Amino acid sequence: MKSIKIFAPATVANLSCGFDVLGCCLDTVGDEMIISLTSEPGVRITKIEGADLPLDTKKNVAGVAVEALLKNCKNEIGVDIEIYKKIKAGSGIGSSAASSAGAVWAVNHLLESPFTSHKLVEFAMAGEKLASGNAHADNVAPALLGGFTLVRSYAPLDVIKLHTPQDLVMTVIHPQIEVKTSDARSVIKQNVTLKQAIHQWGNVGGLVSGLFTEDYDLIGRSLEDVIIEPMRSILIPEFANVKEAAIKQGALGCGISGSGPSIFALSKGMDTAKKVAEAIREVYIKTGLDFDIHISKINNQGVKIIN
Ligand code: ADP
Repeated sequence: MKSIKIFAPATVANLSCGFDVLGCCLDTVGDEMIISLTSEPGVRITKIEGADLPLDTKKNVAGVAVEALLKNCKNEIGVDIEIYKKIKAGSGIGSSAASSAGAVWAVNHLLESPFTSHKLVEFAMAGEKLASGNAHADNVAPALLGGFTLVRSYAPLDVIKLHTPQDLVMTVIHPQIEVKTSDARSVIKQNVTLKQAIHQWGNVGGLVSGLFTEDYDLIGRSLEDVIIEPMRSILIPEFANVKEAAIKQGALGCGISGSGPSIFALSKGMDTAKKVAEAIREVYIKTGLDFDIHISKINNQGVKIIN
């Protein structure tokens, strides 16, 4: 039996201006998984610790994603999956994506890499479809490719790995309230005005350019969302005050992580990211709500093997 233990990273999707297309990978927040190839064909989730999630392969995103991969293999293969959950489900930092991406990455590695990471994104998207009803790639792509990623097109799927400036550090606050991805989607109007679209695609271009040229001011100016944030931020307590506090402490930008309720702030340098964390903590302590705060550099590698 061949077996590996992996780190399956959390991810921040959307990054303000890039709804459903932009995302980046975190380094200090993620699940652990042990994936084994076995002689008995089929996929089994043998253990889950840290969360109350289904062991049924068809109801767990890790199982569904691996089944999508196995459909593309000639030989009959058996896979056992153990999940040690650290990312809370429904947190908005890619809990389901970590399981889908981690599982397919590990199976591909154990099979001596017959599939490209772009193909793995497709398999992992089957897991995302189960979690939210929508096969989005903005979390699984950065989890698999590392760094910052752009989904240039969904049909056909075209995922691009962007450049990651060294000094960028994420601060993420996860207020422990439930915002279902389906609810967060239902508050979004299906139409945008041309004026909003122009504003938004200017920012997407600005952010991509800022990442490649390591222009931190341009990155900051481009972290702006005139379409989704005004609609979704009403679901997140203290969103405006958190954002104001983060920017005041020098964050380049601040917005909703994925579908929320987590809020991210991107800073240049660890010192600023820590100051931002402290300011956000002060805002949230007054709410009486439970919350976690994470500070993380950008993980340019994605899923990785650990001991
Ligand atoms: P997040 O934004 O943190 O990824 P989602 O709401 O997109 O959270 O996904 C969480 C949903 O996916 C929950 O309904 C959860 O029950 C389901 N799910 C199924 N399998 C898993 C898994 N292995 N890890 C996390 N969530 C899972």
